[in-house]
Amino acid sequence: MASTTATRVHGKEREELADILRKRVSGEVRFDAFSRVLYSTDASIYQMEPVGVVIPRNVDDVLAVMEVARENNVPVLPRGGGTSLAGQTVNHAIILDFSKYLNQVLEINTEEGWARVQPGIVLDQLNRQLAPHGLMYAPDPTTSSRACIGGGIGNNTCGAHSVIYGKSLDHILEVYAVLTDGSQAHTLTGQDVIHRVHDVPVAVVG
Ligand SMILES: Cc1cc2nc3c(=O)[nH]c(=O)nc-3n(C[C@H](O)[C@H](O)[C@H](O)COP(=O)(O)OP(=O)(O)OC[C@H]3O[C@@H](n4cnc5c(N)ncnc54)[C@H](O)[C@@H]3O)c2cc1C
Repeated sequence: MASTTATRVHGKEREELADILRKRVSGEVRFDAFSRVLYSTDASIYQMEPVGVVIPRNVDDVLAVMEVARENNVPVLPRGGGTSLAGQTVNHAIILDFSKYLNQVLEINTEEGWARVQPGIVLDQLNRQLAPHGLMYAPDPTTSSRACIGGGIGNNTCGAHSVIYGKSLDHILEVYAVLTDGSQAHTLTGQDVIHRVHDVPVAVVG
């Protein structure tokens, strides 16, 4: 059985960690009891109180969180809409909520049929911006009014029309990711898909 050596963080240590993060992060550092309860559930039956929550405003915030977490041996758990059904977004970790600030369409290339987006954009919002160009991001889960692109990549989300149009990973051309060692990765995927979705940090992987 797999085991973890990650540090459990409570009380004074939690406050110290929050103080370090507040000095490094321009986004919101929410380590109070109310926020921890808010982020202790997702759409699954599971519940676990996080160490705290960071709502990053930019990529530098994400890099800072990864560095602080690594230095303090604390896990990091990215979150989009939190609509996962198997407890994917609850853990004793620093929750990184991408949905509040990192939720923009950065570029739409109508000729080549791709869009460059940030990971916290909700699928329906993306499609509302693509529609005037005659484009659409195909994966259509029931939760498309809440679910984000980053969460769709994490879950390889599919939908009612995926038999015809494919699931999330069939439509991702490029991903910029922050890895757990703090390095940044850029991956290229399929050649003949119609949408390109990328910007640091679509994924935080280990
Ligand atoms: C009523 C209901 C109906 C559903 N119907 C469907 C359906 O039809 N099809 C389907 O596929 N799923 C369905 N789901 C599951 C879920 O809604 C989808 O998988 C959805 O795409 C998840 O998106 P999210 O933004 O909520 O992801 P989250 O739940 O926030 O995250 C999903 C995973 O991705 C990771 N993640 C999130 N953001 C990032 C990031 N920036 N970088 C790295 N990792 C990240 C998280 O850590 C987690 O592991 C349903 C769920 C519910 C409650």
